[in-house]
Amino acid sequence: MNKETDTTADVRNVVIVGSGVAGLSAAVYAARADLEPLVFEGPEPGGQLTLTTDVENYLGFPEGVGGMELIQNGKDQAERFSAKFTHGTVENATLAERPFELELSNGDTLQTRALIVASGASARWVGAENEDELMGYGLSTCATCDGAFHRGDDVLVIGGGDSAMEEALFLAKFADNVTIVHRREELRASEIMADRARDNETIEFRWNTELEAIHGSQEEGVTSATLVSHPDGYPAEKAATGVDVDRETVDVGGVFYAIGHTPNTEFLEGTAVDRDESGYLRTRTDDAGRATTETAVEGVFAAGDVADPHYQQAVTAAGTGSMAALDAEAHLETLERTEEAAFEIPL
Ligand SMILES: Cc1cc2nc3c(=O)[nH]c(=O)nc-3n(C[C@H](O)[C@H](O)[C@H](O)COP(=O)(O)OP(=O)(O)OC[C@H]3O[C@@H](n4cnc5c(N)ncnc54)[C@H](O)[C@@H]3O)c2cc1C
Repeated sequence: MNKETDTTADVRNVVIVGSGVAGLSAAVYAARADLEPLVFEGPEPGGQLTLTTDVENYLGFPEGVGGMELIQNGKDQAERFSAKFTHGTVENATLAERPFELELSNGDTLQTRALIVASGASARWVGAENEDELMGYGLSTCATCDGAFHRGDDVLVIGGGDSAMEEALFLAKFADNVTIVHRREELRASEIMADRARDNETIEFRWNTELEAIHGSQEEGVTSATLVSHPDGYPAEKAATGVDVDRETVDVGGVFYAIGHTPNTEFLEGTAVDRDESGYLRTRTDDAGRATTETAVEGVFAAGDVADPHYQQAVTAAGTGSMAALDAEAHLETLERTEEAAFEIPL
C-alpha cells in the first residue's frame, strides 16, 4: 500500500472491495457523503470494462465510450470528492466482530465500520489460443454488450447451457449465422431454451466440438477460428492425450464465450455472508419487504455483478453501487446514534 493511502492504523468508515463500475459508483456516492471511502482495486483495476473497446449502451454517451475511458472518468470523479484508491487485494475478512477486519494479500490488515463488496464476477474463459490478445476485439463474454457490432457476421457461441442459448438467440438478431459450439452431443440448457435455439433458423449447432484457437488481430478483429471435433465428445481433452481429432478452421467475425461466470467471493469464505449455490452474494429485503444491498451480515453490502447472476451490465452495476453507498451511509448513521446513546450518562 502506498504512503498516501496507508490508513491501516485507523478504522475506516467504508472500505469498497473492487474498482469496477459498481465500486466506482459506490465510491462517488460515499465520498460525496464525506465518508472518505477507501477502494481496493484488486487483481483487475477498473474491472471488466477495461477489457472492452466500445461501450454503446451506457447512458449519457450518444456516440458510445471506450471502456477504459469510462472507468478513468469514474475514478477521476470519485477522487474529486476525496475517495482513496489503492492496489491491494483483500484475501480474508473477519466479520464476526466490529469493526470488521480485512487482511490483504501483502499481509497488512485494516479495520472498517462498513464494507461494500463490489468484487465482480469473472467470465470463464475457454483457454483457446490468442484469447488474451483478442478479448474485446471480436472475442467477447457478453452478447448484450457486443452483439450489435456483429451485424451481418457469422459468429460462434461457445457453451451448452441456458446462457449460451440466450446469447445465441440475442446474437441471431444481428448476425447472419450463429453457430453454437458444444463439446458434447447433449445440451445442459433447459428444454425450453434449447427448443427456442433449435427453432431459430439463424442458429445451428456443432456437436462434440471445441474451440482450439481464434485468429485475427486487434486491428482487424476476429477473422476465423479453429475447431476440433471427435464423435465421442470432449475433443480438446482427447487431442491433449494424443487421440486423433478432426480440425477445421472456419471464417467468423466474432466469438462469444458463454460458459458461465465465477463470482469473486473467495475472501468471504468462512464468514456469515450468504451466497447462492453458484457463489453469488445474497442481499436482504428490509422490514417493509423492499430490496436492499445489505448482505446477511449487518454493515456488509454487495453491489454489481458479484450479487447479480442475471443482468450483469455496467449500468446496473453502477446503480447497485450507488444503492450500496446509500445503504452504508444509513448504517453508519445508525451506528453513530447507537454509540452516542451508549455513552449518555443516565440521570
Ligand atoms: C468484454 C466485455 C465487454 C463488456 N461490455 C459491456 C458493455 O458494452 N456494456 C455493459 O453494460 N456491460 C458490459 N460488460 C459487462 C460489464 O463490464 C460488467 O457488468 C461490469 O463491469 C460489472 O461491474 P462490477 O463493478 O460489478 O465488477 P467488475 O467490473 O468485474 O469489477 C470487479 C472489481 O473487483 C476487484 N476485485 C475482485 N476481487 C477482489 C479482491 N479480493 N480484493 C480487491 N478487489 C477485488 C477487481 O480487481 C475489479 O476491480 C462487458 C464485460 C466484458 C467482459
